[in-house]
Amino acid sequence: MMTDTGIELMERDDERTPMITPSEIIEHLYCPRFTYFMNCLGISQHEEKRYKVMKGREFHEKREAENREYLRKKLGCVAREIAVYLASPALRVRGIIDEVLTLADGTMAPLDYKHSEFNERTYSTFKIQSVLYARLIMDRYQEPVERGFICYCREGFKVKEIVYRKRDFVYAEMVVKEIFRVMLNGYYPKRTKWRSRCPDCCYRNICA
Ligand code: SF4
Repeated sequence: MMTDTGIELMERDDERTPMITPSEIIEHLYCPRFTYFMNCLGISQHEEKRYKVMKGREFHEKREAENREYLRKKLGCVAREIAVYLASPALRVRGIIDEVLTLADGTMAPLDYKHSEFNERTYSTFKIQSVLYARLIMDRYQEPVERGFICYCREGFKVKEIVYRKRDFVYAEMVVKEIFRVMLNGYYPKRTKWRSRCPDCCYRNICA
């Protein structure tokens, strides 16, 4: 019997429940006005950028497949599921987690692959994504999730471990709330505090 893929499930959920994806969260953290331009005004970004993202994904998927076995041993996981679609209408977040791991200590953990090198600024964004994945796993499996992993594919598959704290969950949920405030109320958010992002931004001509 054929089962639905994560992408098919995600598209179906999109039709009936207002939930956001990790990529929308990443866009918002890059600049809150992206949420406004994309979700309230329906103005998408340049295709060139999307093409680069697409090519990056292809590379990411290929390398990911090659290294899964090695990583599994390194992290001491005893079971795993690949490309798991999880959604939480209560949390208002949905997404496909690269891998959901069961660890030797009985806890579970998300493992996420990134087609990039480690740096502090992107790490804080990826961390929020990981925290929300942890919440989705806890909701679905009803098992403890105390840590998660980010694998940086461009750095020889370097793995960064995140130990979750209560305040990480509080902050991640606050960001989700803020995104819905923009989307549902048409609230025009402040600019990013990283003004060096503006000269190359595709919205710079309409961003007042
Ligand atoms: S121009 Fe700057 S403030 Fe405006 S959307 Fe782009 S990054 Fe954000």
